[in-house]
Parts: sequence; C-alpha cells; structure tokens
Amino acid sequence: MVDNRVCCGCGACVAACPAGCIEMQYGRRFNWPRVDESRCTKCGRCVQVCPSTFLLDGTAPDFDDDLRRADYPCHLVHSPDDAVRLDAASGGGITGLILHLMETGQADGAVVARCTGANPLAAEAFLATDRTGLLEARGSKYTPVSSGTVLREVLDRPGRYVFVGTPCMVEGLSRLEGLRPVLAERIILKISMVCSGMSSRESTRRYIADAGVDPQAARRICYRGDGWPGRFRVYGDDERLLLDRPYLEDAVVHVVSRDHYLRCWNCVDHWGRLADVVACDPWTRDVVEHERKGWSALMSRTERGHEAVTSAIEHGALVTRPITMEDMLGYNRPLVLGPDHPRHAWMAAYQLIFRRRWKYLWPVMRNVLGGRPAGLRTTLKARLQTVYYY
Ligand SMILES: Cc1cc2nc3c(=O)[nH]c(=O)nc-3n(C[C@H](O)[C@H](O)[C@H](O)COP(=O)(O)OP(=O)(O)OC[C@H]3O[C@@H](n4cnc5c(N)ncnc54)[C@H](O)[C@@H]3O)c2cc1C
Repeated sequence: MVDNRVCCGCGACVAACPAGCIEMQYGRRFNWPRVDESRCTKCGRCVQVCPSTFLLDGTAPDFDDDLRRADYPCHLVHSPDDAVRLDAASGGGITGLILHLMETGQADGAVVARCTGANPLAAEAFLATDRTGLLEARGSKYTPVSSGTVLREVLDRPGRYVFVGTPCMVEGLSRLEGLRPVLAERIILKISMVCSGMSSRESTRRYIADAGVDPQAARRICYRGDGWPGRFRVYGDDERLLLDRPYLEDAVVHVVSRDHYLRCWNCVDHWGRLADVVACDPWTRDVVEHERKGWSALMSRTERGHEAVTSAIEHGALVTRPITMEDMLGYNRPLVLGPDHPRHAWMAAYQLIFRRRWKYLWPVMRNVLGGRPAGLRTTLKARLQTVYYY
C-alpha cells in the first residue's frame, strides 16, 4: 500500500520498478506515484529506493552532522558567459559546470528540468544532451519535479551523465544505485541544490492568477532570471511577456515558501549530504544590496565533485572567488540543523498524527508551547484533507 502523504515526488520508485507498473501523477498540487496493483509483483524495490520511508518506519532519518565537522572546499562562482549567467538561478554555476563537462567530453548529458510547453505549470524533468537543452533548463523550479523518472532512460542509454536535483532526489538516486550498480557508472556527478523545501504547483498557479494573468495562457515560467536575485516571469504564445515581478518582492513568499510537501517539513537534509557538489545562493545583506548579475556558491562534498569544479575553474568555464565553508553555511544558516533542531519535533508530530505513535507526544507539545506550529499545521492539514496530494 502506498502512503502518498510521505512522498516527496522524487520519482526514483518509477525507475526502480522492474515491472514498470509505477507512473508519476502530476496533480493539482504535488507529484505522487500511482501503482498498477494488477501488475505489481510486490518485490519491494520501490520502498527500498524511497527517501521517505523513515516516516513510515517511525525511525529517525539518517542524520549526518558532517556540516559541523568537515571542511569541504567551497567556491563562489559564476559563468563568464552572460548568455548562461543572467537567466540562471544564481550565477549559472550549475549550468556552467555541466557545459564544461560536456564540452570537454567528460559527460554526455544531464538530468535537468524545464517549465516550458503547453503546460509549464507541470515542470518536466528530462535528459539534456546539448547546450540548447541545458540553457532551456536553467534556473530553479520552485515547483514539484520528478527527476528520478528520467533515470529509467539513463538505465537504457549507455553514456556518462550528470544528475541535478534536490537532496531527496539525490538520495533516491543513491539508493537506486545500490540496486542498479550500472547507474553509479553512468551518473558521473550528482549535483544537489541547497533546498529549503519544495512548494506546491498550486502556489505558482495561484500567484499567477492573483496577478491577473490566466495560468492557462502560460507557455514558459521563469522563476528566477534577468540577473540576480532575478525576476519571476511568465511568457505566453510567441514568447509574449505576461507577467514580470521582482523575485524578492513577493514571489519568494507566495511561490517559494508556501505549501510545501509534508515530507519537506520532516526533512533534515537541506544540504545534499549524498551529492558530489551542492549549490546555493550567497544570501548576505551585502550581496543582496549590490549584486545584480549573480554568483553561485558551490560546496564540493566528494573528491569527484572537487575535481569537476576545479577542472571547470582551471579551464575558465567558471569565474571564481574563494570562500570558506563558514561563509557557505552562513548563506543559509537556518538550514544548518543540529540533532536538537525543532525539525525533529515536526517528525514527532507526523508520527503522532499519522501513525498514532503516542510516545512522540512530548516533542510535539514542546514545539506548540514554544510557538513553532508551522510543521504541525501542515501535518494537520495533510491529515484532514483526504485529497492532500491531488
Ligand atoms: C526547490 C528549491 C529550493 C531551494 N532553496 C534554496 C534555499 O533555501 N537557499 C539557497 O541558497 N538556494 C536554494 N535553492 C538553490 C538555488 O535556487 C539555485 O538553484 C542554486 O543556487 C543554483 O543556481 P545556479 O545559477 O548555479 O543554477 P542554474 O545554472 O540555474 O542551474 C540550475 C539547474 O537545476 C535544475 N533544477 C532547477 N530546479 C530544479 C528542481 N526543482 N528539480 C530538479 N532540477 C532542478 C535546472 O534544470 C538547472 O539545470 C533552491 C532550489 C530549489 C529548486
């Protein structure tokens, strides 16, 4: 039995299923898997690759305090090419890095995502194998994406690829590598974005509609672009600009920070612990006030990641400025969690409300009494709305 309410929509289960009986559903708010029970052989692989099973088990998720211990190499970078940089989310660091790996023959393509076509509200993950595809995919998609589904194609298509996703998507991929070792050879680099949580598709739709634009007329949605911190833009037929708002004005609140997956409220991995390279924005007062073109902050968590970033810098594919790991963490300090972080109480709320595990009552009460009810609110909403995911 699938409990969609724990799902983060990563799509790894679709690629893991040997019977091919799982399809992603792209609902009004979130993506979730639907299993064709008549063809399911109950092999359990979908559960093995799922990055959310800790919520069902009632166990704590793998929590790695490495950010407080390790000293990973970090760089502030941007693409030297404004055609790459300006419509990227930050400084085009991810796109510039992948382009370099492709141009030097180290990679044949990358699993990325785009919000274009007849229904750009439903972001599409795909395998980009040329510059045009990569440029089309630039920018953050603050809306459900199921990049794991593309791993089906990667399994069928020999080559060397880069995978870009949120930390939970990278975890789904890493678990799948355990079942399908060939994937570990094909995915030569895992890039994760630092992620504060994934918003629903409905928050984008409502934001566009509230601005007086018909969401059905949208053909391309650009959450960040035209410099940094960028503008939220919607384009219609023939690239006609339908909506244009500064990202930091209100899009960041109404589109990015609202209505997250329930799983996001239970997440303790905002920094892509299983990725080779992690990317974020350099959120400091000084940068926000003065920077207009954009920089990406990159942290190399593995040797492989460090080699790729260094290679791009040495070839001039990325312009760099040195930063320390402390600088890097400082850009998103609220996302650096310790074992005593209230997030662990949100997990307790989940256990209490969904799984009736009463021993978790105290951490929930502590949070409510401490005036931090946001995770609890989401958990209750998910419980009360039977159509939470649809
Ligand atoms: C949901 C979400 C939440 C984030 N939260 C934070 C945060 O709290 N703090 C912070 O500093 N940074 C956050 N980021 C990361 C930040 O927005 C930038 O993505 C990052 O700085 C990289 O910028 P860039 O210019 O180097 O990337 P680009 O060169 O623009 O490349 C981005 C790549 O990521 C792919 N991509 C974008 N969105 C998705 C997605 N949803 N799923 C799969 N692939 C995707 C694109 O297709 C593209 O290939 C978040 C990103 C996302 C998607």
